[in-house]
Amino acid sequence: MAEFAIGVDLGATKIEAALIDRAGSLLDLARVPTDHEDGAEIVMVRVIACIDQLMDQVDEDEIAGIGVGTPGVIDIRNGTVVIAGNLGWRNLPMRRVIAGLLGAVSWERRVWLDNDTNVAVLGEFYYGAGQNARHMLYVTIGTGVGSGMILDGRLYRGATGGAGEIGHIVLDPEGRHCSCGRRGCLETLISGPSIVYQARALLERGMPSSLDHTALDSLSAIDVVSAAQTGDWLARSVLENAGVYLGMVLAHYIEINNPELIIVGGGVGAAAGELMLASAREVIEARTFPSHFEAMRITLPALGGSSGAMGAAALVWYEMGILPDRLTEE
Ligand SMILES: [Zn+2]
Repeated sequence: MAEFAIGVDLGATKIEAALIDRAGSLLDLARVPTDHEDGAEIVMVRVIACIDQLMDQVDEDEIAGIGVGTPGVIDIRNGTVVIAGNLGWRNLPMRRVIAGLLGAVSWERRVWLDNDTNVAVLGEFYYGAGQNARHMLYVTIGTGVGSGMILDGRLYRGATGGAGEIGHIVLDPEGRHCSCGRRGCLETLISGPSIVYQARALLERGMPSSLDHTALDSLSAIDVVSAAQTGDWLARSVLENAGVYLGMVLAHYIEINNPELIIVGGGVGAAAGELMLASAREVIEARTFPSHFEAMRITLPALGGSSGAMGAAALVWYEMGILPDRLTEE
């Protein structure tokens, strides 16, 4: 059996590809800027250049397949990116394009696509914090808020592949407008831009803070996290507040699905860590059955910088029906 998989993390800023073996050891990594303004065709050529670099390391027939994780709505059956707003793509037949550029139709059966959050949860499930779990949720908090879930050892995609839109659960129907057209979604309360919005609103009211009142336009969510880490009261309260809203939504998820593990990642989620999770945990404890609360752990991702590419490679094993050894040995 082929022992290696290639995973491609195709993001808005960089393309990162990893060659791993079944145990998750990283053999090689290729990375280039995406520069998506150049157009989909050129970006796909860059993807192939990364894949080619990795293929040089082992015999081609030792490679089980290629997994690709990318933001947006993915038609996994046809291997098409239906829409990827921040890359400007619509109906891109990525599987066919990759197979074509690799020069062999047979690759079409060995290339799999999924969205970045599903790939993230698979990465943690196979090789990260979820290695002992079979019921887990991965929440990503960055510019947007999304999630991927493993239910009973299987990636759960829903009827149309749209499962996991946790960021667009409405918490405040009178709240701020969301990119989805509704108001008061979780995303408008805890995403990076929302954290900046709330910190800025408090600063504009003249609330004391170590954050620079004169540089509000350049304020970032990471600035707020850094200030909170040094004990800044305003920054801490913004993140605690975000944690309360996160906890409200997670409490519902926990009561419905009884997970054993929730991972909170993404650029903002992983940076904020306990500054957000402590208040989330309090809300969850108050709003879930004790048996559900005690069975569950909330933690940060275990995979580091190459998690997207590792997860995309894990997608290959998953789609081939090769589950983590612990599940097949039961
Ligand atoms: Zn929304």
